[in-house]
Amino acid sequence: MFEAVIAGSLPKPSWLSETEKLWPQWKLQGQDLSQAKMDATLMWVKLQEDAGLDIVGDGEQARQHFVHGFLEQVGGIDFEHKVTMGIRDGRYDAQVPQVIAPLKLKGRVHAMEAQLARAHTTKKLKFTLPGPMTIVDTVADRFYGSKVSMAMAFADLLNQEALALQADGVDIIQFDEPAFNVYMKDAADWGVQALERAARGLTCTTAVHICYGYGIKANNDWKEKLGQEWRQYEEVFPALAKSSIRQVSLECFHSHVPPHLMALLEGKDVMVGVIDVASDVVETPEQVADTIGLAMKYVPANRIFPCTNCGMAPMSREVALAKLKALGDGARLARERWQTKTGAP
Ligand code: ZN
Repeated sequence: MFEAVIAGSLPKPSWLSETEKLWPQWKLQGQDLSQAKMDATLMWVKLQEDAGLDIVGDGEQARQHFVHGFLEQVGGIDFEHKVTMGIRDGRYDAQVPQVIAPLKLKGRVHAMEAQLARAHTTKKLKFTLPGPMTIVDTVADRFYGSKVSMAMAFADLLNQEALALQADGVDIIQFDEPAFNVYMKDAADWGVQALERAARGLTCTTAVHICYGYGIKANNDWKEKLGQEWRQYEEVFPALAKSSIRQVSLECFHSHVPPHLMALLEGKDVMVGVIDVASDVVETPEQVADTIGLAMKYVPANRIFPCTNCGMAPMSREVALAKLKALGDGARLARERWQTKTGAP
């Protein structure tokens, strides 16, 4: 009941990379870098356990960025000649690599950190991958000429890696699709289809994370313009409810999403955002439990998974750690309240 979990990313320690950046530079090279990535992964697995989380992840310590970390292992992409592209409908400019030939995986992408995390925790293990539509929005196309066909090509590669992660012992595979909240019509038209293609054949739990982005300035400015009610989910959730994806991760606490939109996800597990990643103010366990209580009006209690609103990569390590603890403590408090209310043992 109320199994606590994070959306995906966690801050990288200062001995691994630059801190509090979305595209941080690594501080080491070669074998030293590989070793440091593994050490950071192990550290965060332990800290998630200590914070009382029920499901843990690798904290995305081995990838520079949640999309480009995957793309680095994809053939057909020119990383030498990056171009500036407005991403998420021009919300911010990013230096993106270019697709110049048919896409193909060079090999395993996340074997090292998935196998390491699996070997060192008995908790359920969640692993994140970028969703096909979000990848398409974070790379320049010089080859496919169609967003849909490029998304389907990426979906096949994601599927290949996802099946391998499942074989590594991962319990939950989550695809991150912030682009669903930007291109809602495309998401309902073909984004969900590409997502299902990425997840086909998986027997482990499948999930999708849809958010309003990291707590960086460009996103905060964008959110200011979205008005009093953020209704993007309304256009995408019905398509997701009909899909084969089992869990949906969404923003709740401190967002302007009308909570009743959660009810559109009937039949799905819902990872409810109870931790704001756009603020350094640490939530109290009471606030976390209250948000869980709010979600219970729209989602059956046994389908609620308290979660962060989004990844915590650009935050300070101290704040992220305090928020992990608030998440774990708040979930425990919600369980206690539930027991008191229902008399459940
Ligand atoms: Zn997110």
